[in-house]
Amino acid sequence: MDTILYLAHTEADGSLSKTALEALSAVKSLAKGLGGGFAVGLVGEAVQAAADSVAGCGATDFYAVQGADYAVSRYATDTAACEAICKQAGANLVVGPATARFSRCLPGVAARLGGRTDTQCTGLAVDGGEVVVNRWYYRQRMESAQTRAQRPWVITVAPCCFMPEEGCAGSASLTEVAVNVTTRTEVVGVEAPSADEQTIRPEAEILFVAGAGWTKKQADGAAHMKQAEQHILGFLEGSKASLGSSKSLVDLSGEGEEVLSFMTHLHQVGQTGATPRHKKGLATCCHGEEPHVVGWRFITERRAVNLDPNCGWAQGKADVLYVADAFEVMTKVNEMLGK
Ligand SMILES: Cc1cc2nc3c(=O)[nH]c(=O)nc-3n(C[C@H](O)[C@H](O)[C@H](O)COP(=O)(O)OP(=O)(O)OC[C@H]3O[C@@H](n4cnc5c(N)ncnc54)[C@H](O)[C@@H]3O)c2cc1C
Repeated sequence: MDTILYLAHTEADGSLSKTALEALSAVKSLAKGLGGGFAVGLVGEAVQAAADSVAGCGATDFYAVQGADYAVSRYATDTAACEAICKQAGANLVVGPATARFSRCLPGVAARLGGRTDTQCTGLAVDGGEVVVNRWYYRQRMESAQTRAQRPWVITVAPCCFMPEEGCAGSASLTEVAVNVTTRTEVVGVEAPSADEQTIRPEAEILFVAGAGWTKKQADGAAHMKQAEQHILGFLEGSKASLGSSKSLVDLSGEGEEVLSFMTHLHQVGQTGATPRHKKGLATCCHGEEPHVVGWRFITERRAVNLDPNCGWAQGKADVLYVADAFEVMTKVNEMLGK
C-alpha cells in the first residue's frame, strides 16, 4: 500500500493557491481510489492558517516546515523542507501542485529520495489498483496514461485539471518537522511581469485573442492601430479577460512593423505558443488557421469575430462565428461594458 503525502507551499498572504487546492482534491480522490489515507505537508513562512483552511480534507496528519527561511521560493530551502517532510511522513507517493515554486524543487526532492518524478500531470487516477497519471508530450499532440513501479514517486499536478478542494476549513494540529539546511542564496526581491495585459492569465474567465487583422488596412484603406489598442485594452479592462494573440501579430514587431505596444511573444497561442485552458475564448481579427487553433483545444466555448465568412473559425473550429467588423463589434461591446 502506498503512503500518500500531499505537499504544498503557502502564498505570500499565507493562503493556499487555487492550483494547490486543485492538487489537494486530486490527492483526496487518489487516496479514496486506493482505499487509504493521506497526509498533508506544508511549507511556508507561517502555515497554520493554510492548514486550518483545509483541516477537514480528510488528511491523517499535517506536517509543517515554517519560518522566515521558507517564506520565499528558493531551491535549497524548499528542497530540504520537502525532503524532510517526505522522510518524516514515510511517503512513497508524493503529490504537489505544479506551481512555479514546486516545479522548480520537487523533481530535486525526487532525486534526493532516490525516486522518480512525473511533472505537469493532467490526470491522476486509480485503475485496477494502480496509480495512473496522464501527461502530454510533443507540445500537447500526444497524451499518455502511465504508471510507475518505482517508489518514491513524486507527481506534480498541472493547474486547472481538477476542481479545487473547498469547504473543509477547521482547526489543524501541526507536526513541526525539523530541517537542517544552509544556503548561500539570499532572495532580495521578485521580478515578474505584471499579471494584467502583459501575460496570459489562467485564472481569467475569458481568453481574448487578437489577431493580425487588427493591424491591417481596413475598408477605408488605412490601418487604425491606436483605435485597435483602445478597443483591445478597453475590453480587457472592462471584462477582466486575459489577452492572447496569434503568431502573426506577435511576429510583427520582429519584422519592424508598427505593433500593438502591449503585445509580446508570451501572448502567443497555438502550436508554437501556449495552450490555455480558459472556459471561454473570443478571437478577433484572427483567421483561425490550424496551427493557431490547436492552442484552443482546452477552451470549452469558442467564439470569433471575422470579416471573412470562410475563415478557419467557420470550418468547425468555433461554436459561434460573428461575420462582422471587429472594430464595430468591439466599439459596441465596450460601450455595453461602460468603457
Ligand atoms: C510550423 C508553424 C507553427 C505555427 N505556430 C503558430 C502558433 O503557435 N500560433 C499562431 O497563431 N500561429 C502559428 N502559425 C501561423 C499560422 O499558420 C497563421 O499564419 C497565423 O495564426 C495567422 O495569424 P492571424 O490569423 O492573426 O493573421 P491573418 O492570417 O493575417 O488573419 C487576419 C484575419 O483578420 C481578419 N480581419 C481583418 N480585419 C478585420 C476586421 N476589421 N474585423 C474582423 N476581422 C478582420 C481577416 O479576415 C483575417 O481572417 C504557425 C505556422 C507554422 C507553419
